[in-house]
Amino acid sequence: MVLVLVEHQDGQIDELSLQALTLARDLAPGEPVEAVLVGEGGRDASALLGAYGVGRAHVAEDERLAAYAPGAWAQSVVELMDRLEPSAVIVAGTARGNEVLAHVAARKDLPFAANCTHVSDDSVTRVRWGGSLLEEARLHGSPALLSVAPHTVAAGTVNGADAPTLEAFTPTLREADLLVQVSEHVSTVTSGVSLAEAKVVVSGGRGVGSAEGFAVLEELADVLGAAVGCSRVVTSAGWRPHTDQVGQTGTKVSPDLYIACGISGATQHIAGCKGAKRILAINSDAEAPILASADYAVIGDLSEIVPAITAELRKARRP
Ligand SMILES: Cc1cc2nc3c(=O)[nH]c(=O)nc-3n(C[C@H](O)[C@H](O)[C@H](O)COP(=O)(O)OP(=O)(O)OC[C@H]3O[C@@H](n4cnc5c(N)ncnc54)[C@H](O)[C@@H]3O)c2cc1C
Repeated sequence: MVLVLVEHQDGQIDELSLQALTLARDLAPGEPVEAVLVGEGGRDASALLGAYGVGRAHVAEDERLAAYAPGAWAQSVVELMDRLEPSAVIVAGTARGNEVLAHVAARKDLPFAANCTHVSDDSVTRVRWGGSLLEEARLHGSPALLSVAPHTVAAGTVNGADAPTLEAFTPTLREADLLVQVSEHVSTVTSGVSLAEAKVVVSGGRGVGSAEGFAVLEELADVLGAAVGCSRVVTSAGWRPHTDQVGQTGTKVSPDLYIACGISGATQHIAGCKGAKRILAINSDAEAPILASADYAVIGDLSEIVPAITAELRKARRP
């Protein structure tokens, strides 16, 4: 049996957890796949999992699990591992997934392979160095502990599956399991299109020149129904909030189109946008590294090119 930690919010399953379930089915065809969901809303969310091949869903319930606490989540997973003896435990390669599984690995003294793109019986392929290296590795230890690199496996459903059997349990939580927990959620003000889920992202780098310089990018994004992103130089300069940052230490995006304006294309930035189906680079330097990753490029000053694209789009849409 393969056990998958499924993340959920407001009764909805996180897309990346659906990708992890797909990899779990591929890893061991014919072996049962079971899910563990932690905290409030787990019961509702679990009902959706039959279509993703889950036969049994375990829901960890305790009022102290209402706020995310990595130690408490890990304890919930460890208890199930001890009871069910899965051949592998798989999570989505999210900040939470990786954090919880790292705690599990430490508690069980097991190796953990993070950000895998492919898994076979005895080896894994995983993303290293912010996406600039794919590593083939052997995993010694059982059960295998794996996280799935975001957007490297397409989430797939199975035919005719019923809702899974539901089993609620109350993990034995110690005070130490709750030492670290989320105490507050602070919402950020956005234009409404989420960066991680946007179909088009208009992103700006140092070449934009200032916080005010982003006005032309905002305008283009508005016309395209796109989200605005940026490079780390931009967030470090305080031109945009950190939540807009794309890259290794920012958000990983996978839009249909990523428009990189005044961004050089450092590996740490590309790590966040290489999931894009197409990249359009707008850069004044014909030798900029981003051109190696771009499908299309316009060489020139973005302060002229971006408004020109916006104007053409508006013209084309005029009735
Ligand atoms: C551990 C670590 C993690 C990191 N994580 C991230 C991350 O998550 N995200 C990230 O982005 N970076 C990250 N970085 C930083 C990264 O290495 C680069 O420094 C950064 O991405 C560069 O940002 P930039 O492309 O905006 O700036 P620059 O590299 O300075 O590039 C500016 C570009 O703008 C072009 N330009 C200038 N003026 C114009 C104009 N008028 N019109 C058109 N083009 C113009 C230039 O030709 C140049 O190509 C990380 C670095 C480290 C060490």
